Amino acid sequence: MATPYVTIDLDKIEHNARTIVSLCSAHGIEVTGVTKGVCGHPEVAKAMQRGGVISIGDSRRKNLRRLRAAGVASPSMLLRVPALSAIDDIVEGTDVSLNSELSVLERLSAAAQRRNRAHEVIVMVDLGDLREGVWPNELRSFIREMLRFSGVRLAGIGTNLACFGGVIPSEHNMNQFVGCACDIEEAFDVQLKWISAVNSSGLELVASGKMPGRVNHARIGEAILLGRETVQRKPWPHTFQDAFVLHAEVLEVKKKPSVPVGERSEDAFGERPAFEERGNMDRALLNVGREDIDIAGIRPFEPRFEVLGASSGYLVMDVSPAAGSIRVGDELSFSINYGALLAIMTSEYVEKRFLRSGVLLETTSQGTE
Ligand SMILES: *Cc1c(COP(=O)(O)O)cnc(C)c1O
Repeated sequence: MATPYVTIDLDKIEHNARTIVSLCSAHGIEVTGVTKGVCGHPEVAKAMQRGGVISIGDSRRKNLRRLRAAGVASPSMLLRVPALSAIDDIVEGTDVSLNSELSVLERLSAAAQRRNRAHEVIVMVDLGDLREGVWPNELRSFIREMLRFSGVRLAGIGTNLACFGGVIPSEHNMNQFVGCACDIEEAFDVQLKWISAVNSSGLELVASGKMPGRVNHARIGEAILLGRETVQRKPWPHTFQDAFVLHAEVLEVKKKPSVPVGERSEDAFGERPAFEERGNMDRALLNVGREDIDIAGIRPFEPRFEVLGASSGYLVMDVSPAAGSIRVGDELSFSINYGALLAIMTSEYVEKRFLRSGVLLETTSQGTE
């Protein structure tokens, strides 16, 4: 079979989802499974659903469309705030969207009214991570304006931490967030269905029992896909970290120096990498490169091997400690982090192989045939 490929163990993803869902539900929190790390792949979404998530969220409309086309019946949540240029498509194709701009809400409202329906909205609040969201002291006036748009329905408020600024969810900022929710409910005599404050960085706070009780919604990607919380990237208890494994094939193995020979300039990426003099080494070339992976985000399962670098189509490794056992045509496998997962799933050059109950599924890009 062709290399490179990634194996995707759907049973492990289902198990991870079930672990996270049961933790959250013990604390009154429902979970939306986030599929943007896998380009909205329907098989992964279905595994999350078997694990108990109430809906699927993704940052891209195209991924949500792909899920719908594959018949993944689930309320869908658009996680990236909508582009003005895509309003009609969003009202057509998603049930809930996260929002932070009044001009967008006005257009969403008009588009929903034209279709005689209401589009549900979660208004994002920026607690300091400095990505999307309304600043807390502007939330009240924002909501006041928004409530004039009758085609959108305020379903709740949300916040996202540890994504851009690396801000850690704490009792302090979570209480501030719940305070925002209470203020809105009182000021406008509304009931917010969702107080959506948890992503994979919030699990520790949930498990410790310190998440304020009113927080009732989580949007979880990485902890389900890769079994890690995202504050310290610790493996989460009772989850698998190896649902995804990258496999690449050895194309060349040769003894060569550890430092390039000749006058040096930039590499293919405009960088001037440093080389450590370690004498001759056994170097292997493999058939993945920067076009397919984030090389800082992969680690060989054989701990004695070292990734030295990569060009667009080659991975260069030092395999000296086990040189005799590595041959052209061998496959090496790698664990991957979230950045590498994004690249691998996006690369059309990496074949996706889905396993369920240990059996390889026949799939198309839309899911099981
Ligand atoms: C990506 C994303 C999530 C999921 O984050 P994880 O750390 O993968 O759990 C949640 N909410 C929003 C808005 C996102 O963009």
